Amino acid sequence: MSKKRAFITGITGQDGSYLAEFLLSQGYEVFGLVRRTSTLNFERVRHIQEQITLVSGDMLDQTSLTRTLKDIQPDEVYNLAAQSFVQTSWQQPVFTGDVTALGVTRLLDAIMTVNPKIRFYQASSSEMFGKVQEVPQKESTPFYPRSPYGVAKVYGHWITVNYRESYGLHATSGILFNHESPRRGLEFVTRKVTHHAARIKLGLANELRIGNLDSQRDWGFAGDYVKAMWLMLQQDTPDDYVIATGQTNSVERLLDVAFSCVDLNWKNYTVQDERFMRPAEVDLLVGDPSKAGKNLGWEPNVTFEQLIQMMVEADLQHLKAENRP
Ligand code: NDP
Ligand code: GDP
Repeated sequence: MSKKRAFITGITGQDGSYLAEFLLSQGYEVFGLVRRTSTLNFERVRHIQEQITLVSGDMLDQTSLTRTLKDIQPDEVYNLAAQSFVQTSWQQPVFTGDVTALGVTRLLDAIMTVNPKIRFYQASSSEMFGKVQEVPQKESTPFYPRSPYGVAKVYGHWITVNYRESYGLHATSGILFNHESPRRGLEFVTRKVTHHAARIKLGLANELRIGNLDSQRDWGFAGDYVKAMWLMLQQDTPDDYVIATGQTNSVERLLDVAFSCVDLNWKNYTVQDERFMRPAEVDLLVGDPSKAGKNLGWEPNVTFEQLIQMMVEADLQHLKAENRP
């Protein structure tokens, strides 16, 4: 039997790299979309580059998406590409809408043109819940996004539902709560904190400038979450699922845990800085993943403490290797 083919947009990102690894382990042929940049940014997939096929294109360019699907003829498409950083979405609201919202329609439209039997996964986000209307948040909780990013994700979510209902596509939206890893971008708060804790420990920095300490997030491990994406596309009937741990922690607790890993007290090194405060904040996110548990048999394996320890240790290792004389 020929191998199943998966096409991943956003393969150079955190989730794309974990999903590509996971799909390879399941025997898939894996293809990934990469946009043209003046310097290569394949760090997260370098270790598997020989086993995957990277194709050039952009979520802003309809032609490239349609042509790519025609060439590859995938069984499954995972749309992970996005301008994914909330803070940047206030500085670049139109660009964020173009990639993160309209990009979804472009891809769905390419599927309709090339082969409506292709199964589609949309990377929706807990940021859609924003100013939360109920605690914990589940699939039926109303959305109240609090940033241009959150608004764009609501569009991406509903256009996925709409194509499913209008055209009968096997289109699924995974509403994933924050998930992190040693491959998380340095601008996100978990990685920023673990990286700084490691830098401070090694004498490479002496302070960490940070924003709101009170906000609370449901943080899980990206490696656990990509499996849920795949499970969603293996179901006979497409549906939407919340993926979360069900536990929430504050940024202050994140600091506590990360700095404890290097035997330091965060209070001695941390400075609050207005630049990292947001025009509108999402104060509390905590998800209810019970539908995913029941229908997909999915559950998280890595606890918050294990996750942060894993990230601090990886940062220590990278920094030691980088700074070795
Ligand atoms: P990253 O920011 O790490 O990766 C984003 C990816 O999108 C990168 O590969 C990036 O390419 C690509 N991309 C951005 N713009 C374009 C474009 N115009 N054309 C083609 N590719 C583009 O995000 P994550 O891996 O953390 O997240 C994956 C998805 O899941 C995103 O859609 C995100 O919004 C969503 N999500 C993430 C959560 C999380 O906690 N991580 C929570 C909920 C949802 P390049 O490398 O060239 O920049
Ligand atoms: P988000 O949930 O997708 O916005 O993920 P982030 O990791 O960017 O932010 C999580 C929370 O941490 C938000 O409530 C931020 O306001 C808060 N936060 C506090 N200080 C910082 C900081 O220095 N950088 C970032 N990125 N977030 C911070």
